[in-house]
Amino acid sequence: LRIICVAGARPNYMKIKPVMDALEARGAEVVLVHTGQHYDEAMNDVFFRDLGIRPPDRYLGAGSGSQAEQTARIMLAFEPVVAELAPDAVVVVGDVTSTVACGLVAAKAGTLLAHVEAGLRSRDWSMPEEVNRVVVDRLSDYLLAPSQDAVDNLRAEGYREDQVHLVGNVMIDTLFANRERALAAGALEQLGLTPGGYGLVTLHRPANVDSPEALAPLVGALAKVAEELPLILPAHPRAASALRELVATDRIRLIPPAGYLDFVALQAGARIVLTDSGGVQEETTALGVPCVTLRDNTERPITVSEGTNILAGLDPARIVEIAQRVLAAPPAPRRPALWDGHAGERIAEVLLGGGSAATRLRPT
Ligand code: UDP
Repeated sequence: LRIICVAGARPNYMKIKPVMDALEARGAEVVLVHTGQHYDEAMNDVFFRDLGIRPPDRYLGAGSGSQAEQTARIMLAFEPVVAELAPDAVVVVGDVTSTVACGLVAAKAGTLLAHVEAGLRSRDWSMPEEVNRVVVDRLSDYLLAPSQDAVDNLRAEGYREDQVHLVGNVMIDTLFANRERALAAGALEQLGLTPGGYGLVTLHRPANVDSPEALAPLVGALAKVAEELPLILPAHPRAASALRELVATDRIRLIPPAGYLDFVALQAGARIVLTDSGGVQEETTALGVPCVTLRDNTERPITVSEGTNILAGLDPARIVEIAQRVLAAPPAPRRPALWDGHAGERIAEVLLGGGSAATRLRPT
């Protein structure tokens, strides 16, 4: 049984790895296709090393570009790969351009499509990721949901029960598998940080970082928080130059994007995390670290209702107030069901079943 696993951007690698491992452990032939959406050392290569992912079997070389350019280039390059390899299924993860582009190709080729992280909804149609999430779910035969709220969303949208599988969160598989190694790797010492002595920030959502009008008030709020606690900010390439212009205090330290192990260690040691990242909302919940989300909505409300996340919105005064409240009284750690390190195995079980893999995959 041949299964293509697709990855292409930073938040994909930690999601695809446990799925590949679990499928291969059950005897499937996994072909790793890398779309090339992210391609540089800091956003790509370091994750293959840190996570022990083998080099991709196929590299599509899509490169950067507008949403349409990237989508089109990935589709053009992926279609002949699907035709040549005739896979029994294609697995896509998350909500990036590669996810929806490869999903479209697979669906139109008549190949079974599985979406890992199905059912998340921010209900904010201005987010490119929300468009990707809704479209790829509609294209998919297997909807592999990380949490009960995602299952509820899919039910409300009319998906059939037999398409929807609550499997847990693959990102947490990778987090738990690497946590000890990350702590041992010594990122805090190298940066001169002590556990609990700093806050960690990431910003990269287009709505927050693409215009100075949006980013400046956020940086202003961070500067206020930094008066109380120094902040470290591994800057996403999308935001790096704007942040260098706007950050005017040495209490906010800009560093290049961190590798996976270093970033996990930075999260684990932080007294507070302020972020607009989706994955970081989840990882902080799993680590029990307080998270303040700098967005008006989240597709991961479970991290608020059953985790350590607080949705602060974008008003600077409110962000500062919430951050101060969290520093004074951190939320108690809690973890959603099935965020237990075994989601990849449950996905392999859904796709391949316990026994012979050959007959398991079927149109749903
Ligand atoms: N991450 C990382 N280095 C960084 C920032 C994030 O390794 O400097 C990791 C983080 O631990 C998580 C993933 O990247 O596993 C989240 O990706 P990102 O924030 O880019 O995307 P999103 O989750 O918002 O789609």
